[in-house]
Amino acid sequence: MTIPIPAEDPRHIPNRAVVDPAAITENTRALTGLLEDTTALMAVVKADGYGHGMLMAARAAVEGGATWLGVAHPASALALARADLDVHILTWLYEPVTARLVLPEVIESGVDVSVGSLEMLQLVSEAAQSTGLRARVHVKIDTGMGRNGIAPHQLTELGAAIRDDDSISLVGAWTHLTSADDVDSTHTDQQAELFDAAVERLAEQTGPIPLQHLANSAATLTRPDLHRDLVRPGIALYGYPPVPTDVPLRPALTLTSRLAMVKEVEEGHSVGYGRLHHTARRTRLGLVPIGYADGLPRIASDEIEVLIRTESGDVRVPQVGRISMDQIVVDLGPDSAARPGDTVYLFGDAGGAPNAPTAPTADHWARAAGTIPYEILTSISGRVSRETHS
Ligand SMILES: *Cc1c(COP(=O)(O)O)cnc(C)c1O
Repeated sequence: MTIPIPAEDPRHIPNRAVVDPAAITENTRALTGLLEDTTALMAVVKADGYGHGMLMAARAAVEGGATWLGVAHPASALALARADLDVHILTWLYEPVTARLVLPEVIESGVDVSVGSLEMLQLVSEAAQSTGLRARVHVKIDTGMGRNGIAPHQLTELGAAIRDDDSISLVGAWTHLTSADDVDSTHTDQQAELFDAAVERLAEQTGPIPLQHLANSAATLTRPDLHRDLVRPGIALYGYPPVPTDVPLRPALTLTSRLAMVKEVEEGHSVGYGRLHHTARRTRLGLVPIGYADGLPRIASDEIEVLIRTESGDVRVPQVGRISMDQIVVDLGPDSAARPGDTVYLFGDAGGAPNAPTAPTADHWARAAGTIPYEILTSISGRVSRETHS
């Protein structure tokens, strides 16, 4: 039995992930502007649109020129297909038990499926036969990622199996880059060479392969030579380019809370579990009702700032002590005008006055937590209310 999540009225939740669809649309448009007319853009909206809300992100990206959508899970692909967005959809991650249940409907919905092994081809083929339709397949080639994808030496066998199978229509060949965010790495060139050789080997069996694709956000931004027929950016669409760039991209998600309490304490007052922090002077502490159960990385404790919109303007203040499950404490300073109820911006775009301090970004949190913005964005938990910017 599945256990439903208790329905909650979002007005009763102080913590919000506010998403601006226009940012995703404009970011998509900025990326399509880098492409030749013959290259399409697949917006990667896996993991609920990198935590932004999959359908909203998909619609916003399509508005910005995406003609493909990519998701890991077939169940997500079905949800996208039902939204009738008039785009191609590709899904790539499944295992036999759920695949047998979901793939027939995926194929009936016109969704493209990735195949990275002979066993996966067999699953897709059986599903296609049960529908009487041909499955549209992209062969995933492992050129160094070592995850899903077929090893190049098995391609002849896979290509022959595809050629001999009337229920399979080969649409594309693709691979995923391991190190495109490291512009000095030679791995990207190495993978591109392996990919080209692999595609040739596959085509010897199957005939020409219409679509070739390998560029993620980093390669979309830095390697026009690898754009090929289709690019697959994810993180850049949400405003976090993984490489330095002049392309204007802005964060689409802003995580906010509200001050719950303000209190004055003496110098040397301890804060949080383990007393990681002691106040350096008499000061005001602000309590913010958001913690690691909402998705804040506990490892970033005492290493991060937040922005507070006070009566006398926006201020950046340090978070102090350990991040707790439900709450954090910030040091407002001795003369702070901050009051309970003031909006707290954890990260994103606070939309403040031109010269006012800005909110931290998911990049700041990622650095403080020793991770990447992808993980910060996708870790925002289900108890944070999602809404779109109005
Ligand atoms: C996640 C993913 C992408 C997008 O990667 P970004 O670094 O977010 O641009 C592209 N292709 C595949 C196969 C992926 O899994």
